[in-house]
Amino acid sequence: MSQKDIEMELKELRDKLNRWSNEYYVLDTPSVEDSVYDKHYQRLLELEQANPDLVTADSPSQRVGGKVLSGFTKVNHDIPMLSLGDVFSKEELIEFLERLENSVEQKLDYSCELKIDGLAISLTYENGKFIKGSTRGNGVIGEDITENLKTIKAIPMELNEPVSIEVRGECYMPKKSFVELNTKREAEGQAVFANPRNAAAGSLRQLDTKITASRNLSTFIYYLMEPEKLGIKTQTEALNKLESWGFKVNNESKQVKTKEEIFAYIDEATDQRANLPYDIDGIVLKVESFAVQSQVGNTVKVPRWAIAYKFPPDEQETKVLDIEWTVGRTGVVTPTAVMEPVTLAGTTVARASLHNPDYLREKDIRIGDTVKLHKAGDIIPEISEVVLAKRTEDSVEYQIPTECPECGANLVHLDDEVALRCINPQCPALVKESLTHFASRNAMDIRGLGPRIIEQLYNREMIKDVAGIYSLTFEQLITLDKFKEKSANNLLTAINNSRNNSIERLIFGLGIRHVGAKVARILAENYKSMDNLAKAKSDEISTIDSLGKIIGDSVEMYFADEHVMELLDELRQAGVNLEFLGKTREEQLESSTDSSFNGLRVVLTGTLDTLKRSEAKSWLEAHGAKVTGSVSKKTDLLIAGHDAGSKLTKAQELNVRVMNEAEFIQQMEEES
Ligand code: NAD
Repeated sequence: MSQKDIEMELKELRDKLNRWSNEYYVLDTPSVEDSVYDKHYQRLLELEQANPDLVTADSPSQRVGGKVLSGFTKVNHDIPMLSLGDVFSKEELIEFLERLENSVEQKLDYSCELKIDGLAISLTYENGKFIKGSTRGNGVIGEDITENLKTIKAIPMELNEPVSIEVRGECYMPKKSFVELNTKREAEGQAVFANPRNAAAGSLRQLDTKITASRNLSTFIYYLMEPEKLGIKTQTEALNKLESWGFKVNNESKQVKTKEEIFAYIDEATDQRANLPYDIDGIVLKVESFAVQSQVGNTVKVPRWAIAYKFPPDEQETKVLDIEWTVGRTGVVTPTAVMEPVTLAGTTVARASLHNPDYLREKDIRIGDTVKLHKAGDIIPEISEVVLAKRTEDSVEYQIPTECPECGANLVHLDDEVALRCINPQCPALVKESLTHFASRNAMDIRGLGPRIIEQLYNREMIKDVAGIYSLTFEQLITLDKFKEKSANNLLTAINNSRNNSIERLIFGLGIRHVGAKVARILAENYKSMDNLAKAKSDEISTIDSLGKIIGDSVEMYFADEHVMELLDELRQAGVNLEFLGKTREEQLESSTDSSFNGLRVVLTGTLDTLKRSEAKSWLEAHGAKVTGSVSKKTDLLIAGHDAGSKLTKAQELNVRVMNEAEFIQQMEEES
């Protein structure tokens, strides 16, 4: 290669990598997979190492990616927030460790940690009180996101000791929240996030903190800055200290001494990856001793005492057999690729959402194409790219439909949405989806009225809207496939019971745009009856805490439709309750003071069989308890399901009271 060729290739690589970094760090919408970025970055490093005089100041090797978004105040990091060097194989890892141990002429101990796929944050505490939080930004200057971070429950506002410290860690979006957020965004016609990392970054860097609060973010803290000031000598000691102060610390870290132990840790993390509730993209190895860390120091971009081992991408090639379009409850028409089944991260995958027409066009996916398939955030099957070399000559560009696949109505794009929508209110797909939603668990909770039964009821013209559910008869139900006397009676009982629901279930069940279960509850608490809510104006709704103009407009518009008012009348005549029967949050708080849990600091751990973790947490909070993530001296009670691990051991060591699930449920029942 001539010098000129090398210079040209380097320039091309720099331009590409800088463009991708901007999309990834600033816009939170990467256009290529991380593995593609990593491959180009490795090539850049290779060329730069062989030609050190060609390294430029704007090279990605000289800078931590990321910029400060306008709208946020800048924060100077007195101690720069660095990235991590990375390796992609066990051999490279061993080379790194050998180089490091040779340079300090000693064998070293390491802390093995999971590499959480989120974004780095820095938190400052003064006398135990949280005063400032920021993003990494370009490593030297970050964004002040204090108010956004205050909405994250895992971040303690006050520590268990009045220390003045700076800590750093990862802010991430749990897999479950990522799936829920993307499902919701897809249904609302918005672009989806590529992975939990981008979703977390996009959620955290919001000027409206209400949005951050709604996104269920969490954190793991893994660095204590200037530990020597507190006489702390090793990373493991620092992690323990961080946990005892009240930070959420990842409990999977392990102190290791040998290569075998490191390899075993990598293998275990690789095995467990799919089961973890958060996404990881590798493991991080850190020198245990802070004295050695200071001795070897940092480069401009990464510490010399730590390294990330990145998992190889789990990718499979398969063939696209068809592209199906389905109409959701809100009318959004979504394309799905149907493929030859392949195994990915332990499960068989044959379908992947293509989200919206823009996405499909951008990736230029065609029927018959060979594609690379992976799991976004290790959970959602996604096509990374088309293998163009395997495209047949007779391949034709896929034509986006213009008509609804269910009712034939013309499809439209509303406002600036990326989604295509069917806006025909009589579209059978929309009606069936809205019936299913109405009967679902968080809505009217009519057990036994699932999509298959609704399909039959609708196709046989037994119901045409949600009010129709209340006129169903035993004689009609008994004619359905696989329906016997018992199932028909059970369904009738469930329908009958739903008549007595408090209105938040009905408000949610009606499927008003932008009104989820939580908003429905707030509306019900504030308006107390459907009649009041139906009269409410947007301006007034918008002033309610945690609601806004978008919700206000949507509710007002919904009830302005005369068909909706007719529907409410039909529901009233069918004996469906139209009043709020629950307690408001203030009332709950008042009654909570009688509870034996009032004022307790409670930690939940292990697997609960009967209760969902979120249910237990909400119940405890409604009864005046503070639910925290880690066990410390201040913890009053640990509720331990089965397979409880280190938290149970710690609680026993600290003599914290422990309750099992059955005891907890009994107590709940006594108090309810
Ligand atoms: P990184 O994500 O590879 O590693 C460094 C980061 O790891 C730290 O800043 C920290 O936030 C995080 N981390 C997680 N767990 C940790 C732990 N236990 N201890 C310490 N740190 C931990 O580095 P980066 O600089 O944030 O990003 C570079 C990577 O981003 C690239 O390797 C690439 O995969 C990806 N990227 C992708 C694109 C794209 O277009 N797809 C563009 C730019 C960057």
